Amino acid sequence: MELFAPLEKEEIETRCALDPVSAQKLIKLGLTVKVESGLGNCSGYKDADYTSVGAEVISDRNSGLASADIVCRVSKPEAAEITQLKEGALHVSFLDPFNEAALLDSFVTQKVKAVSLEMMPRTTLAQKMDALSSQANLAGYTAVSLAAEKMLKIFPMMMTPAGTISPAKVFIVGIGVAGLQAIATAKRLGARVTAFDIRPEALEQAESLGAKALRIDLGGETGGTSQGYAKELTPEQIEKQGLEQAKVCAQSDVVITTAKVFGRKSPVLIKKDTVDSMQRGSIIIDLAAESGGNVEGTVLGEEVVTENGVRIFGYANMEGRVPQVATQVLASNFYNFVEHFWDKESKTLKTDPEDEILKGCLITDNGEIIHERFKK
Ligand code: NAD
Repeated sequence: MELFAPLEKEEIETRCALDPVSAQKLIKLGLTVKVESGLGNCSGYKDADYTSVGAEVISDRNSGLASADIVCRVSKPEAAEITQLKEGALHVSFLDPFNEAALLDSFVTQKVKAVSLEMMPRTTLAQKMDALSSQANLAGYTAVSLAAEKMLKIFPMMMTPAGTISPAKVFIVGIGVAGLQAIATAKRLGARVTAFDIRPEALEQAESLGAKALRIDLGGETGGTSQGYAKELTPEQIEKQGLEQAKVCAQSDVVITTAKVFGRKSPVLIKKDTVDSMQRGSIIIDLAAESGGNVEGTVLGEEVVTENGVRIFGYANMEGRVPQVATQVLASNFYNFVEHFWDKESKTLKTDPEDEILKGCLITDNGEIIHERFKK
């Protein structure tokens, strides 16, 4: 079987689907691995690094797409490229399936099996294939490192002959994978960290990392789904949350927001009046910018400086700021996925649509949308 990793086309994308280590592991399984020339340019790998582990480096993208049994890439494909794929091929990438109905139809027409990385089940078995987690973890880290670089202060307390420098106060909103890593990184740098989430178990996890948990009684239903995702709050609950958060924001040097609601636009949790009450020079990093943003005033891809001198960063692809490790763990997710379904005897993939993992993430098969959530 042949696996192909094409170059990422989006300018902002610094990651790629395969590093030489995972390419070599796939080859050891018995796959023929082809990568498009230049694949690892942004993540620190030369073509020769791939050829040295036995992969084939090709310049003809079209032939790579047309002959592959498995295509792995980071970003969703252009519709025109789906028409180049072989019938029955497996395509694994982020797909944004809630917003890309036409793309799903293209996979149906081409009779390609499309796997959406976003839909990987959040189970112990699928953990090693969970690209949302492997990337969110790094986004949490880069949010803190960006804040450390941009702020006017420093994170740790320093007692010097010239006086004592107070530790930075950091507020993390949303304690999922990214939020937990942001807490851990900020704590390692010596900041005082406060964190909030609507899931009570997340507050306990924050405390176990040494953060102070902000507890707000929102009333009514809060908490998570069976997959651990947050449930959407009512407008009244969001208002109540905003009032309590505003007090913490006003005292914070850095606010990092990561609050998402799976498959929906992210809630706006920090309103303009809260931003206006923050101190000059404070930093907001909105990790939810790509899904609409948690902060009023966030502009996707930009730094916005407010009238009172607060800097709001809505940068996209935050994990792409550390492309080598982001590629390393993403490639490992791809490898683990292929390895899980690999049949050593026949040296082919055994993809039973009834498999628990595939039931979660396989969207199209055999010319149909088979995933319950996207059938309608
Ligand atoms: P996410 O990116 O969907 O959201 C980030 C955080 O924002 C979540 O903790 C969520 O509760 C929080 N949030 C949503 N609305 C909020 C609001 N109004 N105010 C404050 N916070 C709000 O989350 P994620 O990082 O993808 O993690 C989702 C869940 O999946 C977590 O429970 C995580 O532990 C779990 N998970 C499990 C596995 C596994 O078992 N294999 C792997 C990864 C994640």
